[in-house]
Amino acid sequence: MEQVADLAAKPAMVPRRYDKYAAQIRMLVVLVLCFAVAPGALLLTVGALVLIFGHQVHDIVFGILIMSLAATFIAGITATVVYVRRGTSLARLQAEFVQKVSHDLRTPLTSIKMFVETLQEGRLTDKDKVDECLDVLSRETDRLTAMVERLLEWARMEAGKRVYETERVTVARVVDAAVEGLESQVKLSGLEGVTHVNRELADHLPLVDVDPEAMSDALLNVMSNALRYTPADKKEIAVRAVKRDKEVVITIADNGPGIPQHEQSRIFEKFYRVVDPALPDVDGTGLGLAMVHHIVRAHRGRITVQSDIGKGAAFHIVLPAASPEES
Ligand code: ADP
Repeated sequence: MEQVADLAAKPAMVPRRYDKYAAQIRMLVVLVLCFAVAPGALLLTVGALVLIFGHQVHDIVFGILIMSLAATFIAGITATVVYVRRGTSLARLQAEFVQKVSHDLRTPLTSIKMFVETLQEGRLTDKDKVDECLDVLSRETDRLTAMVERLLEWARMEAGKRVYETERVTVARVVDAAVEGLESQVKLSGLEGVTHVNRELADHLPLVDVDPEAMSDALLNVMSNALRYTPADKKEIAVRAVKRDKEVVITIADNGPGIPQHEQSRIFEKFYRVVDPALPDVDGTGLGLAMVHHIVRAHRGRITVQSDIGKGAAFHIVLPAASPEES
């Protein structure tokens, strides 16, 4: 009985996790506080006192000098901390990314191994069953190839080795190739009944100088996100293009959960994913929008997002119109 009471009195064991990155940040903050912020604040106080109580010209000059020194010192330290924090957060995201990708690669590999073993052992005698098995093998290897291709593509972009073959093309060609890709994804996922894609291109849009394949891939990436993040029972995706001054604006809007305001500037960073229990849990690696951003920037364009929680998201891809004198 006593033993039971003893056990009840003890707090439940909480599993401990060692977060290396958080520990590094804590250590850095302590070091900065001890060796930089405290002397900086003291210097600022001395400067202020000299300015208030000193009457001679050289006192005032001295005070201003001390205060500027302290301000530069504190600004430098703050910038270093922000820089290191960003680096540490990127390292953490990278580690999570590697873990996620390894897991995603292992899943098809496991089923490939299982089906190969089944065939090797000759356990399947029925021809239809063998064909079914080979179909699965082919699908899984396609999935693996697509994943590896995407990673290699990203590596090429990061290394600055992605080459874009620019052509002068209509906006319709680029948008329609992406919409076709989206429609086949809708079909493959059996979502025809719940998905509505509305395509609306303004008349007389100027031509654009782009690598049509890369730009269509970028648009398809944003459209696939719209498909993934919208509610399972109603997926409304609108694709529009208009001319604005000397630019073409392609907008992809959806009726999804939206993106919190404070996350909007970060979603284009590599590996960054919004983690919010209030939002639907969708599988992903955080590379898609970083790749889109890279492609759009390589074409001297920009991508922005407009969104309110619960009111969907609209991604605007702005591309410079091809100048007529160059044609
Ligand atoms: P992921 O593979 O995680 O989708 P992305 O780079 O494509 O990576 O997107 C980064 C994050 O932006 C996602 O984790 C998601 O939270 C958010 N996001 C992107 N598109 C949408 C959208 N249409 N609606 C809501 N959230 C989105």
